[in-house]
Amino acid sequence: MGLFDVHAHLTSPRFEEPASALIERAEKAGLTTIISNGLNIQDNQATLALAQKFSIVRPALGLYPVDAVLPEMEKEGVDYPREDACVATAEETIEWLENHIDDAFAIGEIGLDHHWVPESCWHRQEEIFRQLVQVAMKADLPIIIHTRKAERRAFEILSEMKAPRVNWHCYSSRLKLARKIAEAGHFLSIPANARRSETFTGMLRTLPRQQVLLETDCPYLSPTPGTLNEPQFVAQTLEYAAELWGETKESAQEIVEDNFVSLFGTEP
Ligand SMILES: [Zn+2]
Repeated sequence: MGLFDVHAHLTSPRFEEPASALIERAEKAGLTTIISNGLNIQDNQATLALAQKFSIVRPALGLYPVDAVLPEMEKEGVDYPREDACVATAEETIEWLENHIDDAFAIGEIGLDHHWVPESCWHRQEEIFRQLVQVAMKADLPIIIHTRKAERRAFEILSEMKAPRVNWHCYSSRLKLARKIAEAGHFLSIPANARRSETFTGMLRTLPRQQVLLETDCPYLSPTPGTLNEPQFVAQTLEYAAELWGETKESAQEIVEDNFVSLFGTEP
């Protein structure tokens, strides 16, 4: 067992260093697992290539909820700041995922985004989300959820579909709903900037400990504003969780390691 990051983007073009440098520092900090999350077909392919090269990297293959409806958004003339261009449709991506399901450690990130996506595309986004959840459930794979301003709806859909293995990445809505989500047996991963965030602090204080996981969302959400985040910084969340829980770092780590096993069915 060891430390882990359940939500990284090691393939991000924002990183100026090669992934090997980030991985080396992560290993020094005690990490044994980094789940790198794909956003679209090209990114999923890059994620798989990385996982083949470095055993610490576990590939989550997904379709970012904004990427899922890009053609529809374009038709509506909605501007979305993109870092790379993905040309595949949602149908093509779902087919690709089905063809690569045996290589996936998890399905993610997937979900609903009402922040960037206009209301006219929500129905379509939901349709795609349901199909992706179905793909994960059919293969008995854990799901890694991204939602923004659509947490309640995403929870309704996942509950209705009875998705059994779910982690919510970077949840940022009401604490009351977070507790309901945890009570339903879903996991919530807390990013490395938790100390600066009222929501994540509240989650660490009040969520049942056995539903808490660690993530970074690197290169985003750095604990130090204006710098790039990276997997090694999960150690900072662990330290903060131990503080709030009144536990030693070792026993806090044991708790989250056991949680990882509960969701992913394998040791981190
Ligand atoms: Zn992400």
